[in-house]
Amino acid sequence: MADKSFLDWPFFDDSHRELAARLEDWCEANLGAAQDGDVDAACRALVRKLGDGGWLRYCVPAAWGGVHQALDVRSLALIRETLARHDGLADFVFAMQGLGSGTISLFGSEAQKQAYLPAVASGEKIAAFALTEPSAGSDVAAMETTAEAEANGYVVNGAKTYISNGGIADFYVLFARTGEAPGAKGISAFIVEAGSEGLDDHERIQVIAPHPLATLKFETMRLPAAALLGERGRGFAEAMATLDLFRTTVGAAALGFARRALDEATQRALTRKLGDGTLADNGQVQAMLAEMVLDVEASALLVYRAAWLRDVKGQRNSREAALAKLQASDGAQRVIDKAVQIFGGLGVTVGVPVERLYREIRALRIYEGASEVQKVVIARSHFREHGA
Ligand SMILES: Cc1cc2nc3c(=O)[nH]c(=O)nc-3n(C[C@H](O)[C@H](O)[C@H](O)COP(=O)(O)OP(=O)(O)OC[C@H]3O[C@@H](n4cnc5c(N)ncnc54)[C@H](O)[C@@H]3O)c2cc1C
Repeated sequence: MADKSFLDWPFFDDSHRELAARLEDWCEANLGAAQDGDVDAACRALVRKLGDGGWLRYCVPAAWGGVHQALDVRSLALIRETLARHDGLADFVFAMQGLGSGTISLFGSEAQKQAYLPAVASGEKIAAFALTEPSAGSDVAAMETTAEAEANGYVVNGAKTYISNGGIADFYVLFARTGEAPGAKGISAFIVEAGSEGLDDHERIQVIAPHPLATLKFETMRLPAAALLGERGRGFAEAMATLDLFRTTVGAAALGFARRALDEATQRALTRKLGDGTLADNGQVQAMLAEMVLDVEASALLVYRAAWLRDVKGQRNSREAALAKLQASDGAQRVIDKAVQIFGGLGVTVGVPVERLYREIRALRIYEGASEVQKVVIARSHFREHGA
């Protein structure tokens, strides 16, 4: 049973404690069913389930079917942590509804919000966020996909890759170069309907923790002028603002994976016979468990501090979100690796929870800013604080 004492921390109010308890009950009743290998079908079913359960309402503002006036990062983080602890795919589905519609919540026109956000909240529409390109990953400003203005809109050419929900999404928030200036200043955001002529989203990428992931190709894809999302030439800043909002919640998902690994390893250590006692009597196993507890607690403190700063203090929290994501994702990798070690041969046996967690955690250290990129953010902020 995962530790819940953190819910008493001053970062939360009663609505968060109520949310955590309600979601825990819902997860126990609704998640964990064996998936038959069709990951697209499993994701579609989870979108419907999470929509019916009312959980996707936390992904959009209240005026468009959501719960809070503005997105509440503590609620998003609590939901991601809890879902990840029960079922990584459920967390993935929830996260993508939020990230895929986040730019619309932050920068969309009234008409765009009305057209997409209620359907995201109910689970009727599946969202995706298309930023990365084959030669522009961490270096987003190097993107090459173009959206050239023409009489009644834009014509798009290029490619995006590693796009979560690619192939099953109903719409993509796309970032493309509109050429107002070189680098970060010449990029704009658009909303693209799946099935648009000139969009090919069929090329899938298989990854170690399966979920829908695709390369998108655009060949003379025409978009109406109304597809422009936010301000022309401000797409880079809009993408970064969206990622800033959700970065803390990647840390929360990693924390959920880590808590599950710690629970599994603790149960195993207490019940696995070793000599006259159990694994838990062994000093080296105790040391591993102590280090796991330390990583989990440190991650939780950093994740919920970053969320609280944004929600309550209304502060820009790039530094704290970077600290939270770095510690929680790298820390979860350490925790899960130790859990596998404590399980011995059983830990690398396909289908055992710690083996699944070992695969699931890895991508979180790469996407939405690799660990090394988070260190750049932290170091820059540190130097700024020292007047450099
Ligand atoms: C499972 C998964 C899902 C994803 N989903 C999406 C999605 O939905 N939408 C989307 O747009 N993208 C998505 N991505 C893409 C993801 O954001 C990129 O993979 C990530 O930004 C890294 O880009 P890259 O893979 O091109 O690696 P590169 O940019 O080539 O970087 C490789 C490595 O170089 C190092 N590095 C890079 N830059 C720096 C730096 N400045 N300082 C120090 N070291 C550095 C890091 O170790 C990094 O891991 C997803 C990726 C994965 C794996």
